[in-house]
Amino acid sequence: MRRATAAFVHRATVHRATAVVNAVATTVATAVTTAVTRMTRAWLIGAGPGDVELMTLKATRALAEADVVLVDDLVNPDVLQFARADAHVVYVGKRGGHPSTPQAGIVAQMLEHLHAGRSVARLKGGDPFVFGRGGEEQQALQAAGIDVTVINGITAGIAAPAAIGIPVTHRDHAQGVVFVTGHGAGSGEPDWTALVATRMTLVIYMGMRRLQEIVGALLAAGLDPATPCAAIESATRPAQRHALARLDEFAGTVGKAGLGSPAIVVIGGVASLAVPAASSTSTTGLSTAHSTAKTLSVGIGCRSHTSAAQIEAAVRVALGTHGFDDIATIASIDHKADEAGLLEFCSRHALRLRLFSRAEIDTVTAQVATEPAPGATSAVRAHLGVDGVCEPCALLGAAPEYEAGDRTGTARLIVRKTVHGGVTVAIATNSAHSGSNIASNNSNIDRQDLS
Ligand code: SAH
Repeated sequence: MRRATAAFVHRATVHRATAVVNAVATTVATAVTTAVTRMTRAWLIGAGPGDVELMTLKATRALAEADVVLVDDLVNPDVLQFARADAHVVYVGKRGGHPSTPQAGIVAQMLEHLHAGRSVARLKGGDPFVFGRGGEEQQALQAAGIDVTVINGITAGIAAPAAIGIPVTHRDHAQGVVFVTGHGAGSGEPDWTALVATRMTLVIYMGMRRLQEIVGALLAAGLDPATPCAAIESATRPAQRHALARLDEFAGTVGKAGLGSPAIVVIGGVASLAVPAASSTSTTGLSTAHSTAKTLSVGIGCRSHTSAAQIEAAVRVALGTHGFDDIATIASIDHKADEAGLLEFCSRHALRLRLFSRAEIDTVTAQVATEPAPGATSAVRAHLGVDGVCEPCALLGAAPEYEAGDRTGTARLIVRKTVHGGVTVAIATNSAHSGSNIASNNSNIDRQDLS
């Protein structure tokens, strides 16, 4: 599998280049623009809701062709494994504390690359044409004479409910579904009374910040206070969790659970079909929903002379929707005590580094391999093979230092070994110190298997 190299475009370079492009665009004849269009390609690609396996084949193929990939906020960086190793990857969302790029700036960057003869994939979360500004970007590119290929993605409004067993239509409950944004206020406010009158399932995007107001409007519009509701946060991702309640208790329940963005809200009879939290993989019931702040231990395996940037890119992929702020410990094998890239990465993010000997690592590996948790599958044992150091190190790093006998204590892996640019990363947490209930990333291993 070819892998992408993440790169950030220096803002000054973009501005300079954009100015040049603008100047060229105003002076070059239409015939030249047409020739450029024929030579280059532009795609608007839906990356789906998060789980890499929910991306379409067509999306992965287009991604594999692109010279430049512009990535939005909600895209799981793991999908960049389908990009070319030499692809130029630019994050234009707010991930990692970078400010988001204004829409006009994104289009300018795309045009800059396209006019320079580079093919550009614009990667968006879910579907590019569902609350994704894909329509606006298509218009802007078409106005500049560029043909755009649109590749659908699975939108969160269908994937998130499905992830907890909710079909958005069902003959016994709803004859249709309405996708609506909860973001608008004032003149942008949807007509909730009209929507209630449709008796269809309401699937609300971007509704968490105004949830209380939305619930109030629905009750005022006469929707039954006992209507089943669901909110699903970070659907299809390792950190997925959800809350279920009747309409009149919904805002309070969601608030108590601490659910936030990104989340999809489902209102209507179909929400009663949600699987109970206890039996669904990668979800938490309300009673166990807690923040994972500063509880993660990130185990790293890397070759000599791996750069801090390579380690950072791999850790970012493994973290998914978590941030560097959630990391308590970086853990690796003691050979890495002088590994410049690793040390620089830790100091850059002010992260504590714990190093473990081969003997300690083997103890944990053997312990997990020979004494698997009840119900563990052979996949788990294979996955915790003796070759890797990242998983045992992640477990050791999550354990309190005083737990000498049983070194890992209550630590458990929450993200299985991922490989990005030759760096292996696994993430563990200590359940005694965290209510986090994250399932293994992109894996068919139930979280119960790893506890
Ligand atoms: N184009 C995207 C939607 C972008 S709008 C799509 O088709 O899915 C952003 C909103 O989408 C978020 O505020 C949230 O409501 C929803 N969303 C996107 N990804 C999500 C996910 N993995 N889990 C839950 N909601 C998600």
